[in-house]
Amino acid sequence: SVRTDITPIKEAEEVLRRSKEELEQMVRDQTAELRERGEALQKLATTDPLTGIANRRKFNETLENEIQRAQRHDIPLALILMDIDHFKKVNDTHGHPAGDSVLTEFARIIEANIRVNDLFARWGGEEFILLVPHIDAENLRLLTNKLCREVEKFPFTNVGTVTCSLGATSYQPGETIQELIARMDCALYMAKQNGRNRVEQL
Ligand code: GH3
Ligand code: MG
Ligand code: MG
Repeated sequence: SVRTDITPIKEAEEVLRRSKEELEQMVRDQTAELRERGEALQKLATTDPLTGIANRRKFNETLENEIQRAQRHDIPLALILMDIDHFKKVNDTHGHPAGDSVLTEFARIIEANIRVNDLFARWGGEEFILLVPHIDAENLRLLTNKLCREVEKFPFTNVGTVTCSLGATSYQPGETIQELIARMDCALYMAKQNGRNRVEQL
């Protein structure tokens, strides 16, 4: 009888199987790497590099979604704009790096006093913004006053006491984002006019 030697076929199959495994592993590795790079890019695009909190771009995106949600489900929503008082003087007196560390410490104070569902972002320069869903006017008043006092009592590194002014307002159903932001700006302006280190709520 003629016996066919199947060893070369078996070997070839084994080589093929290994190549397939190696290829699959390569695809898995590259997919993971792409995902990590995508996540890193996403983080860069949405984060303020100095304080590590959300940037204005991220805030604006979230605000639009939250306003739609608030309108659809009739959920109250508030905005708080915070501006550090006489910050130019902090820089002039203690130097720009000290000013930077005030901004970072300020961000940590606010973060420590808000909830996970609140969105806290750097609005620009020494201005920070906070979006608070599910809050009524009375609790908004309590929160903003607490934030103001927490900042006032914090010993900032190399600088000491720093205060901030806050403008707060609640979303009125049907109004545009521009109207909401304008009222928040107006409230902050009033807080500055009325002596700083205080809250105004419109
Ligand atoms: P007010 O009480 O009216 O808010 O006065 P202010 O001095 O805080 O306001 P002003 O807008 O005159 O000055 C803001 C200063 O913030 C000027 C700018 O140099 C400084 N600033 C903005 N961004 C940064 C930053 O990233 N780091 C530091 N150190 N300073 C910054
Ligand atoms: Mg300012
Ligand atoms: Mg300021």
